[in-house]
Amino acid sequence: MLQPYKHEPFTDFTVEANRKAFEEALGLVEKELGKEYPLIINGERVTTEDKIQSWNPARKDQLVGSVSKANQDLAEKAIQSADEAFQTWRNVNPEERANILVKAAAIIRRRKHEFSAWLVHEAGKPWKEADADTAEAIDFLEYYARQMIELNRGKEILSRPGEQNRYFYTPMGVTVTISPWNFALAIMVGTAVAPIVTGNTVVLKPASTTPVVAAKFVEVLEDAGLPKGVINYVPGSGAEVGDYLVDHPKTSLITFTGSKDVGVRLYERAAVVRPGQNHLKRVIVEMGGKDTVVVDRDADLDLAAESILVSAFGFSGQKCSAGSRAVIHKDVYDEVLEKTVALAKNLTVGDPTNRDNYMGPVIDEKAFEKIMSYIEIGKKEGRLMTGGEGDSSTGFFIQPTIIADLDPEAVIMQEEIFGPVVAFSKANDFDHALEIANNTEYGLTGAVITRNRAHTEQAKREFHVGNLYFNRNCTGAIVGYHPFGGFKMSGTDSKAGGPDYLALHMQAKTVSEMY
Ligand code: NAD
Repeated sequence: MLQPYKHEPFTDFTVEANRKAFEEALGLVEKELGKEYPLIINGERVTTEDKIQSWNPARKDQLVGSVSKANQDLAEKAIQSADEAFQTWRNVNPEERANILVKAAAIIRRRKHEFSAWLVHEAGKPWKEADADTAEAIDFLEYYARQMIELNRGKEILSRPGEQNRYFYTPMGVTVTISPWNFALAIMVGTAVAPIVTGNTVVLKPASTTPVVAAKFVEVLEDAGLPKGVINYVPGSGAEVGDYLVDHPKTSLITFTGSKDVGVRLYERAAVVRPGQNHLKRVIVEMGGKDTVVVDRDADLDLAAESILVSAFGFSGQKCSAGSRAVIHKDVYDEVLEKTVALAKNLTVGDPTNRDNYMGPVIDEKAFEKIMSYIEIGKKEGRLMTGGEGDSSTGFFIQPTIIADLDPEAVIMQEEIFGPVVAFSKANDFDHALEIANNTEYGLTGAVITRNRAHTEQAKREFHVGNLYFNRNCTGAIVGYHPFGGFKMSGTDSKAGGPDYLALHMQAKTVSEMY
C-alpha cells in the first residue's frame, strides 16, 4: 500500500547545509560536462556520427553534452521496438508498473540536487527554479503511480438481473512523447511516464536544447527496473524525426508540449489516416500562453506588484504560465506600476550557478534575438519603464523589462514573447479588465488580485482560462493541487497532474457477461 500522495517540498536555501549540498552538486555536475550520450532503442545504446550539442545558455562556450541524433531509420527502429515491447508491457500488472514509477521517484529524490544542477547548466535555471522543476518531476512520478492504482479499479456501471457489466481501461499502444526545454525535467518526465504507467510504450523525443537531462532520466527508469523497449530515447530534429514519429501508422497516442505553431501542425498531421493504419490517433497538445494578472481597484497593491513581478520574471518569463500582461484598474494603475518597477529594478540577472541571481539567461541565441525584437516593438507601442537591454556576449541575458500604457490590441499584449517582458494596460473598470484579459487567442492561466467578493465570483465565471488564481501569482502549478492545462489555442486542456489525466492515455472497455 502506498502512502497518500503529498507533493515534494521545495529546498530551503536559507539553510546553510542545503546551500552547501547544492553547491557540491553543481561542482560534481560541472565535472561531468561535455560527455557523449547515445540513443537508447530497445535497451541498446546507439551512437551516431551526427550529434546534437547542448550548450550552457549562461556560458555560451560551455558544452553541457553531446547527444547522438536520430534519423528516420532510427526513428523507425524505435517505433518497432516500442510496438514489440507493448505486447508484453500492456499485460504487466498496473501495480507493478506503478511501483517502477515510485522507485524512479526515490532515485531522483536521492539525487535531487544533482538533477537540479543539470537544469542549472543545461536550461539556465536559477537554483530555486531548478529545484522546483526537479520536485515537480518527483511529484508526477508519485502522483501518477497512485492515480494508476485507482484507475485500475475501473468505474462503477449498472448491471441488470442476469448480467454482469464491467467498465475498465486498457492501454492504447505506441506513444510519441515530444517535450519542451522550459521544464526540461518535469514536463518531459510527466509526459513520458503517464503513458508508461497506463501500459503504453514510449518513443521520447526531447527538446534539442535540453537532451542531456532527458538521457539522465531514461537511465533512472532503467535503474528502477523498466523493461527494455518500454521507453526509447531518440533526440532528433523536430521537423525530420518529429514528423516521422507523428505520421507513423503504428503511433496510437501523441503527447506534445510546446509552441502553438508546432502543436497545431502536429494536430493536423495526426488526423491523417496513413496506409496500414487501423485506428485514429489520440492527441494531447499543450501549447503557449499569454497570461494576465488583473488588478482590481480594491486590492492589496503590494501583493499586486509582487504577484506581477513573480509571474513575469520567474525563470526569465520562460513559462507557458508566465504573466506577460498586467491589466490594472485605472484608479490604482500608476501606483501598481510604480511599485512593480521599483521591485524589478532590484532584481539581479546573471549566471544562475550563483544563488544571488534571481534571473539567469534565456535559452539560446534565437530566443534572445526574438525577445529583443519584441522589446523594440514594445518600445514603439508603449512606454519603456525599466529594462529593455540585453547582453549576449557571454550568455543570453536580458534585463527584466516593463512596458507601460499599452493598447490591449498591441502586438506585445497579444503574442507570446517567452522572455522577461511584461506589458501593462489600463482598464476603466472590472468588466473592462476581464474583457482585456480574455482578448487573446490563448486561455492558459490568469490571476486576479482583488478584495471584492462579487468580482471574485464574476472572474470565476468569465475569466476564460484553464488555471485561474486569486490573490497570488499565475505561475507555479503543483501536481495534484493545481491540475494544469489551458483553453482556446493553449491546447487540449489535458490537465496534467490532475485526476482525469491518465484516462486520456487509455481506452475504456465495456464487458457485459450473461449468467
Ligand atoms: P517548440 O514547439 O519549439 O518545441 C517543442 C518540442 O517540439 C521540441 O521537442 C521540438 O524539438 C519539437 N518539434 C519542433 N518542431 C517539430 C515538428 N515539426 N514536429 C514534431 N516536433 C517538433 O517549443 P519549445 O520552445 O520547446 O517550448 C516553449 C513553448 O512551449 C512555449 O510556447 C510554451 O508556452 C509552451 N509550453 C506549454 C506548456 C503547457 O503546459 N501548455 C508547458 C511548457 C511549455
